[in-house]
Amino acid sequence: MIIDCHGHYTTAPKALETWRNRQIAGIGDPSARPKVSELKISDDELRESIETNQLRLMKERGSDLTIFSPRASFMAHHIGDFEVSSTWAAICNELCFRVSELFPDHFIGAAMLPQSPGVDVASCIPEIERCVNAYGFVGINLNPDPSGGHWNSPPLSDRHWYPLYEKMVELDIPAMVHVSTSCNACFHTTGAHYLTPTPRPSCSASRRTCSPTFPRCASSFRTAAARCPTTGAAFAGWRRR
Ligand SMILES: [Zn+2]
Repeated sequence: MIIDCHGHYTTAPKALETWRNRQIAGIGDPSARPKVSELKISDDELRESIETNQLRLMKERGSDLTIFSPRASFMAHHIGDFEVSSTWAAICNELCFRVSELFPDHFIGAAMLPQSPGVDVASCIPEIERCVNAYGFVGINLNPDPSGGHWNSPPLSDRHWYPLYEKMVELDIPAMVHVSTSCNACFHTTGAHYLTPTPRPSCSASRRTCSPTFPRCASSFRTAAARCPTTGAAFAGWRRR
């Protein structure tokens, strides 16, 4: 079986983006934010968006299963507060779950986290548990920079992130280290932010000499696994056991 461990729902029906734009517009006025129930996407729309895109390409290229997560650039954890991010993450994860239900032989989910700058990462745990226990997801996407290009969170070897690592070990799931869009003009989203900062934290964490706290981190989480996308030959991934 050929498994693509890095697939995103980049072709979600337009209604998703429209709802998100309304949510962002309502950040200054919570009463103006759309309700979750106002987003209506039918199973037929989901099927059409998958059959003509990801599934068609999978068949053309001979892959069998895609680990499928919400569109990374749409995560945009820097927008709004935790409530905004948690609502958005729940919606996006549910869509990926619905796709996995419609195409159970070809897609299985990985969760977007409801991260928010300056918020304790433990706040993401309920969504992780929901996605793994109720949706059958097999991983999470961990954004090392929820600020969107300002890199002001602690390094991934810091105890700041330990609550997520503890939950990963408990649930036996890996994380894909994956940034979202950049709001820093110094880092073009796909031209720079995706390609360079994504492997940076993992490379530093994988070299003990570069991170004095990593030996403690690695010894504490001997079964935690991480994967770094969009790095090509520079860095395919690391796994610590
Ligand atoms: Zn990606």
